[in-house]
Amino acid sequence: MRWSIKISDGDIKIDIGERSISVMIETQLLQHKVALPEYVSACVDMKKFIKFCRACPEYGNNWSCPPFNFSPYEIWQSYKSILLYGKKIILGEELTSERYEADELNAVVYKIYTPVKHFIAEKLQEMEIEYPDSMALFAGKCDGCETCNRPTGQACIKPELMRHSIEGLGGDVEKTLKLYFGESLAWPSSDRLPQHLLLIGGLLLK
Ligand code: SF4
Repeated sequence: MRWSIKISDGDIKIDIGERSISVMIETQLLQHKVALPEYVSACVDMKKFIKFCRACPEYGNNWSCPPFNFSPYEIWQSYKSILLYGKKIILGEELTSERYEADELNAVVYKIYTPVKHFIAEKLQEMEIEYPDSMALFAGKCDGCETCNRPTGQACIKPELMRHSIEGLGGDVEKTLKLYFGESLAWPSSDRLPQHLLLIGGLLLK
């Protein structure tokens, strides 16, 4: 099976397996500025989310993820507001009507999700330049290297690229999407894609 998927934002083309289907994936911009005292009070709970991080294979294996040698609250308290920035990826009928093997389903989600994640990271880094003293929070863990070198105990290879994520700093992504965008996370079923995927990062502003 061979898939050729073109994502409208950034004109990204992806091939998956041997199926030959070409689809345009529509994305919608999610953008909303919130004062940080409000956001932290509504959506940040490090004690609650560290439990989920500990259960994740990235815990202690990626420099962008916990545990940290600092308190994430120090970061949240160093800024005045957060410009939430993300994308809703609408998966069309060609993709959602298909049935997938478990491995293939994960591969399709990954192939669609990854270029949009990188698109968001690039946009946020452009915004960092535009807004002095700001700091980007990416949508998910850092994947700046093929393999993160944290398990070796060596320092981050590309600190200029590494950014933390909202969830890595104890932010509730599900609540953020609901509260500020009216959106709900959707998950693949055993053999079908969901109707949409959601990615959210942000820019911390002084
Ligand atoms: S830049 Fe590389 S070494 Fe640094 S956190 Fe990202 S993946 Fe790990």
